[in-house]
Amino acid sequence: MNLIIFGPPGAGKGTQSNFIAKKFNLFQLSTGDILRDQIKKKTELGIKISPIISAGSFVSDEIVSELIEKYVKDERYKNQIIFDGYPRSLEQVKNLESLLIKYKQKIDLVLKLSVSLETIKKRISERRTLEKRTDDYEEIAIKRYKTYESSTEPVIEYYNKLNLVKVIDGERSIDQINKEISDIIALI
Ligand code: AMP
Repeated sequence: MNLIIFGPPGAGKGTQSNFIAKKFNLFQLSTGDILRDQIKKKTELGIKISPIISAGSFVSDEIVSELIEKYVKDERYKNQIIFDGYPRSLEQVKNLESLLIKYKQKIDLVLKLSVSLETIKKRISERRTLEKRTDDYEEIAIKRYKTYESSTEPVIEYYNKLNLVKVIDGERSIDQINKEISDIIALI
């Protein structure tokens, strides 16, 4: 089973993906985590993308696509991926779809964590204190939220037309959300 998890910044995508990955033996493919790791290691790519991420903008499709293909083609993760933070635009959907065809896979489930902007602001401010992410300043987080609405909501709409989307109320506790997601996956 391959699945995608969507949600605005601070919705709990990372936390929930991590939990699902462990529970169902899946591979958490978080583009944000991989990109941040490059920055931490000060690689050539990391140095190039650091200002882009701090500004709350998208890293180029070429960079992200290359990164995604590495994992999709890896037999160890075949049909066992949680896409966390990808695809984020209709262009990226096109790319993912062709990769999945190329490597004979498909998306089985799409989860959407639904959270209000007010909650996002609160959570992001807490996370900024804990994780010191450079893109968690309120102004940048709001920009990322708006980009989510304009670029990523159409992606969810695309999967909705394929009847793959389950909307999860992301305002509740981590445990309550865990439970709902587990129940949904258990039925797939
Ligand atoms: P995230 O951890 O998912 O919130 O991602 C953090 C940042 O990484 C985003 O604001 C973008 O700058 C970059 N990023 C992550 N995934 C993508 C993607 N699929 N396309 C473009 N940029 C991305």
